[in-house]
Amino acid sequence: MQEHVLMDEMAIRRALTRIAHEILERNKGVENCMLVGIRTRGIFLAKRIAERIREIEKVPVPVEEIDVTMYRDDREQPPGLDSIRQAERLAIRNKKLILFDDVLFTGRTVRAAMDALMDIGRPEMIQLAVLVDRGHRELPIRPDYVGKNVPTAKNEEIEVSLHEVDGKDQVSILQQ
Ligand code: 5GP
Ligand code: MG
Repeated sequence: MQEHVLMDEMAIRRALTRIAHEILERNKGVENCMLVGIRTRGIFLAKRIAERIREIEKVPVPVEEIDVTMYRDDREQPPGLDSIRQAERLAIRNKKLILFDDVLFTGRTVRAAMDALMDIGRPEMIQLAVLVDRGHRELPIRPDYVGKNVPTAKNEEIEVSLHEVDGKDQVSILQQ
């Protein structure tokens, strides 16, 4: 197994700063916006972007978390108590939601996240930001904001490390 570093700490920082600017430009600020991080690393990306936006624009933007495991199409259990708790937290009606995940692959996780959000309420709009788009989509989903496009083979894997979870900031590709 070979590991090639695709983004170091500086490259990740620059990409996130660019995405913060792109979000501000596209939405003409962040009024009525909410950042929604998917599971572990998406949450930390959303928090970092919120921090950048606060530095640039001097305004706060809310950050929420979403756990989509119960909405995956490869799971059988129906939405339970957790999704109700999620609903209580997320007042998303008529908000512009910007979803965050670390890696976009088939698109199934994002579809699950959109399903979960739609169950909770009707947002005005949903946009998608990912640190890495590795291709191989199985659904008609494309990101609005991308840190880095990385064409991959299906058996290759992207390793995303973030300080908050992994003690360092790095994106690598693992090749057989
Ligand atoms: P999808 O649902 O689009 O097939 O896969 C995206 C989800 O699976 C994301 O939440 C992402 O964290 C994870 N994922 C898929 N492929 C990779 C990968 O190559 N590397 C990492 N780190 N996560 C991946
Ligand atoms: Mg994930």
